[in-house]
Amino acid sequence: MNNNYWKRGSWNAICDSCSFKYKSSHLKLRWDGLMVCKECWEARHPMDFLKVPVEDLSIPWSRHEPEDQFVELNSYEDYVNWTNVFDEGIPNWESEAEV
Ligand SMILES: [Zn+2]
Repeated sequence: MNNNYWKRGSWNAICDSCSFKYKSSHLKLRWDGLMVCKECWEARHPMDFLKVPVEDLSIPWSRHEPEDQFVELNSYEDYVNWTNVFDEGIPNWESEAEV
């Protein structure tokens, strides 16, 4: 197709999609911003306008993890006394069997 002819108010232009030369009046703006010929023009796909509802993934309630509590032990006796606190809660089965 020879597009080298004069047409009032029109000029030669290149299609942004197929790179063929057309008169500017033959080109049309496509949805993606390109100036394209009639054969290259296409409507935007309807799925581009699909709106998916946003799912609320938040949990109903929560709380912060409490601060760690440390015991200050300055001597070995402090350590022994502190560990005895835990030992008192455990029954000593061997000593009960002997009694
Ligand atoms: Zn084209």
